[in-house]
Amino acid sequence: MPCFQCGARQSDPARGASPWRRGVRADRQVLICPDCQTALDWRAALDRCVSCSSVELICRLGEVECRTCGHTRPADPGQAVEQPEPAAASGLAEEVRVLQPRRL
Ligand SMILES: [Zn+2]
Ligand SMILES: [Zn+2]
Repeated sequence: MPCFQCGARQSDPARGASPWRRGVRADRQVLICPDCQTALDWRAALDRCVSCSSVELICRLGEVECRTCGHTRPADPGQAVEQPEPAAASGLAEEVRVLQPRRL
């Protein structure tokens, strides 16, 4: 899974503690690379635990779990799906459909 911010991919096999951080953004599991951790306020872009405001969340099996306090909530399937851009002209409809980015 690439970094959600810059698209970088983990190159080295994970050995021990990875410098990459995991988080949940719009109910989807994301990774943040070490560069982006220092370059931007990545916590502001992530979902937070409704109970303790931690960003240490994991998304799995249709629910989001807080690794800090253990609070879980169901992931919203409606949020997890990115809405495709409406086609500007009817002639573009087919092309837009073909060019949809693959789900990661
Ligand atoms: Zn990054
Ligand atoms: Zn929590």
